[in-house]
Formats: sequence, structure tokens, C-alpha cells
Amino acid sequence: MITRKRRTKIVATLGPASETPEILEEMIRAGVNVVRLNFSHGTAEDHRKRAEMVRAAADKVGVTVGILADMQGPKIRVGRFVHGATMLCPGQKFIIDIDLDLEAGNDERVGITYKELINDVEPGARLLLNDGLIVMDVDEIVGSEIRCTVILGGELSNNKGINRAGGGLSAAALTDKDKEDIQTACAIGVDYIAISFPRDGADIEYARKLVRAAGGHAGIVAKVERAEAVDNLDSILEASDVVMVARGDLGVEIGDAAVPPVQKRILRKAPKFNCPVIVATQMMESMCENPVPTRAEVNDVANAVIDGTDAVMLSGESAAGKYPVEAVKAMDRTCLETERHRVFPSQSTRDPRYPPHSVNECIARSVMDAARMMPIKAIVAFTQSGSTALYMSRHLGEVPIYALTPEHTTLGKVALYRNVTPIMLATQYSEATDAPRATDDAKALMLSHGIVEKEDLIAMTMGTPMGESGATNMMKIVRAGDHLAENE
Ligand code: PGA
Ligand code: MN
Repeated sequence: MITRKRRTKIVATLGPASETPEILEEMIRAGVNVVRLNFSHGTAEDHRKRAEMVRAAADKVGVTVGILADMQGPKIRVGRFVHGATMLCPGQKFIIDIDLDLEAGNDERVGITYKELINDVEPGARLLLNDGLIVMDVDEIVGSEIRCTVILGGELSNNKGINRAGGGLSAAALTDKDKEDIQTACAIGVDYIAISFPRDGADIEYARKLVRAAGGHAGIVAKVERAEAVDNLDSILEASDVVMVARGDLGVEIGDAAVPPVQKRILRKAPKFNCPVIVATQMMESMCENPVPTRAEVNDVANAVIDGTDAVMLSGESAAGKYPVEAVKAMDRTCLETERHRVFPSQSTRDPRYPPHSVNECIARSVMDAARMMPIKAIVAFTQSGSTALYMSRHLGEVPIYALTPEHTTLGKVALYRNVTPIMLATQYSEATDAPRATDDAKALMLSHGIVEKEDLIAMTMGTPMGESGATNMMKIVRAGDHLAENE
């Protein structure tokens, strides 16, 4: 087992650049904690094979790697062009025609995957294509035609995305394709399912219902990438297991300059909801082409770390770039160096505005307090669902947290939590009398992995009787080398 020093986690998207066992293994060795499978590309069989490849590579390296299945969502796209693309010039007229065959685009018009667009726009609305590189304003709606004037030109090629500036599209977050893909993701047994373009907490609740009905245990990730989601941030944070600051589509919808304050706001609010955060998109974008990041990119990653993100994410850099392994390494060293200096603006364990919701959470916070008062070397949380480790990792702390769990389904989930290392427990403790044995086993485990020395203190939490979810009711501080008989 490899234990890493880095507290911030790295999510990397799998794609043509990284889809071989060798490169994937190198990326995991370099520090990937969670692999993102993009369900916008490929069949159910492709996804199953990709997940198998990730698990095989993680086993080979000897670490837990979580799997996040990212649903395509109602991403609106233009159709295809007979000649592959068209060149649009500022001032030119262009038509989006909902009745045009999706294959029949030309220099005058193009089809669209989302026919409802015609009801969602009115003269004056602004449409952004290809991540905002092309801009057109709607002049009028005539029959099946959305007639536009090009404001910002460029080459528009097949299947490029369209967003409406300011949001306001009525598309539901879960498409029929997403519903099918959720079945696939659950059958694969992924750890997280990311929902694209949710509007509010209700979209997330609905997704969770589908996941549970499909027998899935996955946590639900809300991608904040729509203007409505920003307006409904509290409801999203409340309903989600994790939120992603999906800066690509978000920047197109609300404008690039509005993204940084939203990112900061999400990072500041999330601890109150015990909600982990992933900061995503273009973090090391120039590494698609270059083996080193720009100073600005290093700064971007460092700032997300300083603001207390759980994870930073690679998209195109690892999926389609020339330097997937180097991109992981660049993130790894940036996070590590930043963590040596920064202070988390994390929620105080004793903030009276945010009382713990449960005994479990209260114990978790007490451990974080203890770790500030005593020279504790490691924190061990015996956990079934991972919730104790989640609560601990919401709070300021430099002492590494080890989540010991007998549940396979919990391992990949906690892999995303800041400062938490998942460890599989071979024993399923269950009797009340197991607590002393579990304590001894944990001490031996920490010693054998070189995480602690005999004289070091370990803070532990467990629930008695052991083996129940959410039952943590006990904390103890033990010296790693002391024998149980002398200790209790
Ligand atoms: P995507 O989501 O990469 O699936 O579009 C992330 C984003 O929009 O930033
Ligand atoms: Mn997106």
C-alpha cells in the first residue's frame, strides 16, 4: 500500500490519451485518486471495460482509486455539416433550424439536438457556441427557424455545444440517455455519479432515486454549470454528496469573469453542508500541448487548495492531451507545496452557527480538536459509510486521517475526501467486545505501514457495538506501541 502525503485529491478524466493500462498505471503512480469516466463518449461496454482497466491498474499499484461516472446531461449541440464545418463571420446571418436533418448543416443553417430551444429563446437572446468562442444574437423566430446574427465569428464544426447566455433553458437535467447511463454506471458499481446541468436540489434528489432504484451505492455529484444552479446553491449543496465547480459550461453561461467569485462562494459555503468540492476544467489546460503548466495555472490550482477544495480535476489534459502523466505530476507537486504553507479557511469545529447534526459528527469534530491540542500523528476512523471520515475532513487539520472500512463501496468514496486515506479492513468487527481487538489491529496496521512509530499517539474513533453505519460514539487516544493490556 502506498500512503501519500498530499491532502488535496486529484481527479483525472480518462480518454484516448490515457486509455492504456500502462499510461493509466503511470498516472495512478503519479497520484490520481479518482478517475472520471466521461459518459458523453462510448457505449455501455466501453464504460465497463474502462472501469475494469482502472481497477486493474489501481490493484497493481496498490492504492484505492475511486470511479466517477459523469453523465452527459442536456448538453445542447448543433448537428453536423455536410462539409464538416462552416466559417462564420461577424455580421453574417445564420439560422438554427429545428426541423433540419441533423446531418444536413451548410453555410446558411444547421440542425440542433434540442428542439425545445425554439421555445426557450426570444429576439435579443444571446447564444454561445463552442464554449463561447462563437457568439450570435437571435433576431427573430420564424417557423422552425431561429434566425441569428453572428457577433463573434469563427469556424463552427460538427456537434459543437450551444449555451444561452444567462441560462434559462428549460431542459430537464436528466435525459433519457442519462437514465440509461445511470443503469450502466450502477451495474459497473461506480463510486460517484455526476449529474450535468442540475438546476436545483430536486434534480439531485431525483437522480439519487434513480441510482438507488438501480441498486447503485454511488454518491451524487452536482455539477454547478448553469446560472440556475448558482441561484439555488444552498438547495444543491444540501441535496448533493459532492459538488463540482464545472467552470467550462458555467463560464459560458454566466460569463468568465463571474466564475471566480462563484468558485470562492461554493468553497466557503460547502463546509456548512458537509459537502466536498471538486474544482474542475482548464486547471492545467496548456498542458494539453506543453509538458509544463503556465504560472497562472499553477496559481489556479494553488488557490483552489488554499480555499480548501477537496479535489482538483484534469479534463482534456488527461483525456486528450499530449502530457497526461506530467499533468498529474504538476498538480501533485503544486498541491503538496501549497499545503506546506497555506491555511484552510475551514469551518471552526466549535462555530455555534453550525452545531453538529449527530453524535457521529460531534465525535469527528472532537478528534480534530484533540489533534490540535496533542501531538497526534495519525487519526484512525473505523467507518462503515465513511461519514465519520467525511466530517473529520471538513475541518482544519494537518494530521492525516485513515478511514478503515470493511465496505468496498466506502473505499472509493472516501478516496475523494481531502486528507483521508482509505484502507480496506480484512476483518468485519461486529461484537461489542471487538473494540479492544480493533484498536490493537489498527495500531499494528499503522506501525506496519510505517505511518507511526511506537511512541506516537493515534486518535481513533469507533462505534460500539461495531459494524453499524453512523454509530460512531467513541474516541480514544492511544500510543501506537503500547500493548492493549497495559493500555486499558
Ligand atoms: P464537462 O463538464 O467537461 O462535462 O462539460 C465540466 C464543465 O463544464 O466545466
Ligand atoms: Mn459541462
